[in-house]
Amino acid sequence: MTKSVNNKIVKRVIVFCILTFMLALLPVRAENYASSEPPVEGRGIWVYATSFKNAEELIGNFTLFKSLNLNIIFFLVKGWKPVYFNSSIRPIQPTDWDPLKVAVEKAHELGLELHAWFVVFRDPYLAENKSLATVYSDGRLDSNWACPANPIVRSHLLKLIEEVVANYNVDGIHLDYIRYNNSRACYCEYCREAYKNETGREPPLNSSDPDWDNWTAWRIRQVTSFVQEAHALIKSLKPNVKLSAYVFSNITDAVHERFQNWTDWIQKGFVDFLVPGAYTKDMKDFKDRVSRVLNVTGWQVPIYMGIGVHAFKNEVQIPERIVEQINITRTLGAEGQVFFRWFGYSDGEYLPLNNELAKALKIAYHNQTYIPHKLTRLVDTLPSIVYSNSTIKSLHFNFTEKSIMIQVTGPKGTTGFTSIKLPQTVMDNDWSGNVTILLDGTPWPFTKVIAYNWTYLTAEYGHEKVHEIKIMIPEFSTLTLTIFILTILLLCIFIFMKRENISSTSSCINVSCWSTKLKLFKCAQINSLLYNMKNVGD
Ligand SMILES: [Zn+2]
Repeated sequence: MTKSVNNKIVKRVIVFCILTFMLALLPVRAENYASSEPPVEGRGIWVYATSFKNAEELIGNFTLFKSLNLNIIFFLVKGWKPVYFNSSIRPIQPTDWDPLKVAVEKAHELGLELHAWFVVFRDPYLAENKSLATVYSDGRLDSNWACPANPIVRSHLLKLIEEVVANYNVDGIHLDYIRYNNSRACYCEYCREAYKNETGREPPLNSSDPDWDNWTAWRIRQVTSFVQEAHALIKSLKPNVKLSAYVFSNITDAVHERFQNWTDWIQKGFVDFLVPGAYTKDMKDFKDRVSRVLNVTGWQVPIYMGIGVHAFKNEVQIPERIVEQINITRTLGAEGQVFFRWFGYSDGEYLPLNNELAKALKIAYHNQTYIPHKLTRLVDTLPSIVYSNSTIKSLHFNFTEKSIMIQVTGPKGTTGFTSIKLPQTVMDNDWSGNVTILLDGTPWPFTKVIAYNWTYLTAEYGHEKVHEIKIMIPEFSTLTLTIFILTILLLCIFIFMKRENISSTSSCINVSCWSTKLKLFKCAQINSLLYNMKNVGD
């Protein structure tokens, strides 16, 4: 080991000890802290490749995103006709530089995530071919929309996704227009034949037909299976690449009018996070949309709300309104925001909107944050979330001492991070003064951040060695605390099994085998914990 590395480690240890000592002196009970920003937050921006004349302009704008403390770029790689990457199956634009290549390189250099944004079924390039176009119930053909069920359409689109994932170092694939245009579609020759082959009936033409629900379910299946196929394809090529989608925030409208059953995608594990749109300048409407989304998703995957910066019937968002919308998403518990959209030289009258957005972001975002979908997270019945980038080496319960001991580890030289997000009410009633956390035998050096009705207990530590975290709870007094302990427990088991899954693939390769093991393991652990807790209480 070189002298400079040694010095670095010594310095780190000293800083770590001082920090530990200082933070140990801080009281755990909540005081009157001013609201600050969440330490874990997804902050995205939708960007068109065509907004930039050349690579220099793209680089300049990305550098600005970094300075505005954004952390995810959704970069359009497929819009209506050409694609903005090096494809072997579709016209490319521009031809003198590769926007996606420059975008990925620059984003990563700046420490930003780059997700390739695909407009999926709204595809005038494919729909130019009449046999691939959407046909409505009145027989009208739509040359802007490809048929979501048609196998030629689907394999073409999946091939494009494959090209991007295989050839570019993207962090994710982001699906947009992943739906039918409306409930009057699609009655093309392929759909009518396929439905008839499966059910023996012609697709019904209106919703009063008794077969309408079956026809709706059939169309929902076409969209869901595309998401499933895209997910399987992406994970088979690069398991770390995330899949996300822009969806309609009203789930009833999404399902019945667009056949976009996104709650089902969450349940089935096809998406890593979602961006529901809430483009409105009416604050009550905005709040309702965010609440509705969070009520149906139950914090199972990160939700970043789509906020509109563009004109609403000749009226634009003012910075104050954007800030207010960001703060509404924070208060209600969404885990981030994505802005539609950043404009460029080709966007004419919209270009000044960039200044309005930048003004808002300077007010709302002061620091860089951890990106929720990059961290292991676990959510239970209580809206408390535990985030971490460490893996669990071992886990022990001591029921006499009423403690949980976890050993965490991670790649050498990297920084470990764990954050517990709790609703303020739980923090005030159950957590404060009741729980002791030790890191390597000394008080857990956490930082407490109170932001918009939520408390984050966060800590960073070096992955230079295995750390021991001990959580001691003297009183199992309330139900919420019990649920919280279970949340921590489930997280531990989840990470533990994930690690096992990686290191012992030879003994059990089958995924379903592992998920069954996981379920059994969880049940056994929870039952034993509940049993012991009950006995301790007696
Ligand atoms: Zn069709």
